[in-house]
Amino acid sequence: MRCYIDPMSIQMFGLPVSRGVAIGRAVLVASSRVDVAHYFVAPQETGREVERLRRARDAVAHELSLLQRELPADAPPELSALLDVHLMLLHDDSLTEPTKHWIVERHYNAEWALSAQLEVVARQFDEMEDAYLRERKADLEQVTERLLRALAREAGDAPAATAGLARDFAGEDPLVLVSGDIAPADLMQFRHGVFTGFVTDVGGKTSHTAIVARSMDIPAVVGAREASRVIRQDDWLVIDGDAGVVIVNPSAIVLEEYRFRQRQIELERARLHRLRFTPSVTLDGEAVELLANIELPSDARVALDAGSVGVGLFRSEFLFMNRGGELPGEDEQYEAYRAAVQAMGGLPVTIRTVDVGADKPLDRMSVQELRHEHALNPALGRRAIRWSLAEPAMFRQQIRAILRASAHGKVRMLVPMVMHPREIRQTLELVARAKQQLADAGRPFTDIEVGAMIEVPAAALLLPAILALVDFVSIGTNDLIQYTLAIDRADERIASLYDPGHPAVLRLIADTIVTARRAGKSVCVCGEMAGDPTYAELLLAMGLRSFSMHPAQIPAIKQRILRADTRRLQPLLETALASEDPAQVWAQLLSA
Ligand code: PEP
Ligand code: MG
Repeated sequence: MRCYIDPMSIQMFGLPVSRGVAIGRAVLVASSRVDVAHYFVAPQETGREVERLRRARDAVAHELSLLQRELPADAPPELSALLDVHLMLLHDDSLTEPTKHWIVERHYNAEWALSAQLEVVARQFDEMEDAYLRERKADLEQVTERLLRALAREAGDAPAATAGLARDFAGEDPLVLVSGDIAPADLMQFRHGVFTGFVTDVGGKTSHTAIVARSMDIPAVVGAREASRVIRQDDWLVIDGDAGVVIVNPSAIVLEEYRFRQRQIELERARLHRLRFTPSVTLDGEAVELLANIELPSDARVALDAGSVGVGLFRSEFLFMNRGGELPGEDEQYEAYRAAVQAMGGLPVTIRTVDVGADKPLDRMSVQELRHEHALNPALGRRAIRWSLAEPAMFRQQIRAILRASAHGKVRMLVPMVMHPREIRQTLELVARAKQQLADAGRPFTDIEVGAMIEVPAAALLLPAILALVDFVSIGTNDLIQYTLAIDRADERIASLYDPGHPAVLRLIADTIVTARRAGKSVCVCGEMAGDPTYAELLLAMGLRSFSMHPAQIPAIKQRILRADTRRLQPLLETALASEDPAQVWAQLLSA
């Protein structure tokens, strides 16, 4: 893959996590402000939006003057001076005037326009020589906070969001998101939104933020260290999601090269898309099941369109996140699962029970905060099935919701992070009890299959005991790699050590596939390796016949399967696995 060096502009290097090329203007979103609504207003509505901003400013001015008037006589004089500063910042032309520009010229909604301008002014404060002035940034943030709150009170008057993505919005420049750090659930809110690419300072290749970016199918680079500091609001950016490069304000010639590549990628996509109804069978007639990983019920449509034959992993935790601690009840979950099952029109849907924790916090919290404030080793903490078993009332509700959805189609339940057969036994007891409760209440359900994720080495080593209890297993390579190699999957500083081709990882995967097949149980890979064309033949050679991945990756994997011959692949496997560098040996054997 070619990456174009541009001597005329700043280039930053990070980890390529979602393929393709995005070209657009930078929108800096501070991690603390990702919940601000980002949408376009129609050109004829911008006047109304500016008016909303003006009313919010008047309201805050009134609020501040009132506070000042009502200060007790013995209040320290600094307090009144501080309110003066806030009033001055509020009326200063550098905040609200340019905010209008974002509304009128760019058609941003007022909240988005205001936070965009805050980023610009905050940067100017950061660069000030004078320490006193530099510290005024905190005041500016407080004033902006007040304005955002005032806008929220005015939300009833806000013009409706313009439907459609940025790329469909005639006349707008495409936009790319730049953030220091963004939690997966926060990124989800931009899923059907305005951004055509994104870049962050932190994050690993299989961090959940990267996984969500891949599922959004927009080019993305994570771990670009200084990106959010170096890039300025509205800079033109090229995000090369294949090479992991970000180019700031590219020269015309480099821009043209990348535009050309964008067109080539589009053509290739269209070509692969034509394979979607072609049955996925190897040259020697081995049928291979290609399933989809989804995060929300609405993804089922995309999964079908990509030609998947079912959902291999529905990450149910996204229904649980960013709700201020209020978890979805049984009925709400049932509706969501039913929607996915019905959308898949009779194809199987594997619902994974809630897998929160580590880099998927329940509530808005950056990965860094999570690391430092909660547990010393959150990836080893009370997450996934451990959390579910520790919260039996919550877990029972989820199990009942899944069972009820089974009345509408083929549903399977998958348990994450299993490390001991005991956890499966406890889960099965809860399933039996939930069935009894539903039967007593006269609610319909069917006899669902229950499976275990193999993503902790202990589970791979105890596989026969686990297989005796479950109907199927699914290998979560993302965590299996993390826990086998003791490498944090979300930490960009050690990303080069996170190696799916490590001999120990491949040995565990190969043994799991063989053992499960021998026991007559179905086995799938649902980690990111399943959607990575580099590993498609290797997994086929191991005997894998069920792959689950983001819908966007299905066509490329299908192409590899259609060209593969397992009779030729299988005999090469042991030689590769026995070597110190199996990935390299495998590549040599394949090309020989
Ligand atoms: C995995 O660990 O491979 C997996 C599929 O689960 P998640 O990425 O959600 O942890
Ligand atoms: Mg996992």
